[in-house]
Amino acid sequence: MVLFKEEGIYFPAADLYIDPWKPVQRAVITHGHSDHARPGMGSYLCHPLTKEILRYRLGPDIQVQTLDYNVPLVINGATISFHPAGHIIGSAQVRLEYKGEVWVITGDYKLNNDLVSTPYEPVQCHSFLTESTFGLPVYQFQPCATIYEEINHWCAANARQGLNSVLIGYALGKSQNILANLDPELGVPLLHGAVFNMNEALAGSGICFPGEWLTPETPKERLKNAVIIAPQSVLGSPWLRKLQPYRIAVCSGWMALRGPRRRLSVDKGFALSDHCDFEQLNTAIKATGAENVYVTHGYQAVYSKWLCEAYGLRAVELKTQFDSIEETLAADSTNPTA
Ligand SMILES: [Zn+2]
Ligand SMILES: [Zn+2]
Repeated sequence: MVLFKEEGIYFPAADLYIDPWKPVQRAVITHGHSDHARPGMGSYLCHPLTKEILRYRLGPDIQVQTLDYNVPLVINGATISFHPAGHIIGSAQVRLEYKGEVWVITGDYKLNNDLVSTPYEPVQCHSFLTESTFGLPVYQFQPCATIYEEINHWCAANARQGLNSVLIGYALGKSQNILANLDPELGVPLLHGAVFNMNEALAGSGICFPGEWLTPETPKERLKNAVIIAPQSVLGSPWLRKLQPYRIAVCSGWMALRGPRRRLSVDKGFALSDHCDFEQLNTAIKATGAENVYVTHGYQAVYSKWLCEAYGLRAVELKTQFDSIEETLAADSTNPTA
């Protein structure tokens, strides 16, 4: 029913590809991260909240059709629908049905409620395609609300010592989660251009986040006991220097382990992730009732083996061209199995 082709994951009954990595006529997009939403597609089908992200990232002239969560779209007798994935704003699992058989392609997802994106909803299916970015038992994430509280405490403590707080997180997802949950007492946060521009795009869908663009014209007084949100690209760049004196923290699932935190030589790591940890993956997979599980990006070999042995599922690893784009920060230097 679903074919794994060179261009990407193909659903022949409706003649469309899910998150294709090569240009195709009709693409269904699970969410706006660049490893899932690529340029050059004839048309894009996505959740309404993903539309402005795609237009911002891929250009205003792309052809986009939107579909709300839980609304079936019938094409040639095949049914397609979107269901909340809880990963970032607008992120969707794609449910495909044809002649009584049901597949769910998750894209990226998490069960932890980040209080910004629509919470994950389990969907019953026969075959389930899951990521496994953090598919090892060593990964156990705290609820997002707990981590937001820790972030607020850390920023407040820095301000008391006359220091700026620099929070590093991916420009789409992590940044908005932090901004939406930042204690207003900390003042209006300052944003790197990449974060500011993404917020502008999201504002086009009616979702607004606090923050001012940090530019060379920003008055010096603003850079006192401030909270600054920036993407990982600023690490080790001269951009950071003008923010002194500061403490810097990285927000990423990889921060659950001490090694990557130390290797990045930052002051603090917050294990804030847009992905499932090991137990969330297990819970999600069991809830689908799926017999066949395809495991992609992350620890797919180990994790698919675990699913076979622990739950007696038919689980296989699947090679795709998805990365955990918002979690790549420490990925290169992280291999807890080695
Ligand atoms: Zn993603
Ligand atoms: Zn991804």
